[in-house]
Amino acid sequence: MFFRLNPEIRLILGAKNGVIYDFLDNKVYELSSEEKSVLELAEKSKEVEEISRYLGMEGSATEVLEKYKEKNLGEFYEQKPYIEPLRLKSPLSGTFYESPPHLTNFFVELNNNCQHDCPYCGRNTMKRVFGCIGCNVRDGQKNALEGGYYTSVLDQAYKLGAGQIFLSGGNVLEDLDMLSAVLDHCEELHFPAVFLTCHENHVNPYAVNFLNRYTGLNVFLNCSFPVSSRTLEIAGNLQCNLTLVPVVDVTDMSEEDVTEKIQHEYEKVQNRRVSWQIDYCSSDFTKDYSKISLFGKERTKNATLQFFERCQEYHPCLGGILTISSDGNVYVCRVIREKSLGNVVDTNLSEIMRNRKEEIKKFWNLNRDKITPCRNCEYRYSCMDCRAIEADMYYTNLCRYDPHTGKWT
Ligand code: SF4
Ligand code: SF4
Repeated sequence: MFFRLNPEIRLILGAKNGVIYDFLDNKVYELSSEEKSVLELAEKSKEVEEISRYLGMEGSATEVLEKYKEKNLGEFYEQKPYIEPLRLKSPLSGTFYESPPHLTNFFVELNNNCQHDCPYCGRNTMKRVFGCIGCNVRDGQKNALEGGYYTSVLDQAYKLGAGQIFLSGGNVLEDLDMLSAVLDHCEELHFPAVFLTCHENHVNPYAVNFLNRYTGLNVFLNCSFPVSSRTLEIAGNLQCNLTLVPVVDVTDMSEEDVTEKIQHEYEKVQNRRVSWQIDYCSSDFTKDYSKISLFGKERTKNATLQFFERCQEYHPCLGGILTISSDGNVYVCRVIREKSLGNVVDTNLSEIMRNRKEEIKKFWNLNRDKITPCRNCEYRYSCMDCRAIEADMYYTNLCRYDPHTGKWT
């Protein structure tokens, strides 16, 4: 007798435990060490009767496998079956041949100006988890580009197939003539999605009227935490697809405080027509990450086949992104700024993608098989990640799971 998982099910082994993904229902089933070993051998077509003996189990492997048959995740067979897992991409992709480079997300900084001084701003030492959807100013960065350059780089990004455009600053609402030219051009090019990041500090009634002209626009409205009545009023007046992004400083809070206060704030917005994405900032995430649910199981929730296959080849966040700063420099990540890949005043995006291919690949193809200890973790293909807040590109410190013990903290 043999047992095999169904084609839509995928077994992934970790150092201690394992998981199976059900890509029909987008569910993840956690496996104990014993269940992992039984399923691993079953998937290698070892006869079920031999598995318990081979593993020196006290119970029977058949009982373990029956549990998965009952859940409709696998089947017993009289003869050794051949089951090819369902895929969206060829299994050879990323191994024997490379996918063509594809720019998916393009970040454009329209200026580097702001009169405020939030502690979590890019020029300050405090870090935030979603720095890329925050407004930021950076010391010494010029505003070298004029409107014409922006329409030209958007044309270039369009030719490279960019799907999502992220516009930000500084205060992106400072020059509404320029912003209007950029947004109008985005509409002409029919990008599938355009996102604009601003801060509650920047929004006045005139800006609200301006933004309401662009009903298809997605706005990330950054704001302080707790959420002020002014922010709620702005949120109530905006007609675009609005996501409120309150930034919680967790430095002096306990884990319970963080959960309780966020829940309290959430109650203020839950019946409003806005989405909600809490961001977290800290002066030292190595001390504070264990208070934040995003570094726990929450990070592994995306169990779609599309995301799984993407994570096999690319970094879940860095893969496919490029950023252009207000001085025209091109980077991969908006936050990690080791070295510019070129400047759009002197060259264009396709030349940068052609000539700096290897440097770009270093970021885009940084899948979890290249990162310690993620390479030994069963969640490595369904786990969200931000490299910009880790001290080492190739090492994860900020995670509440230890794949070697199989325990969440
Ligand atoms: S409002 Fe935005 S750009 Fe201005 S200081 Fe705060 S984080 Fe930085
Ligand atoms: S960050 Fe790494 S170790 Fe943590 S759950 Fe994700 S893949 Fe596993």
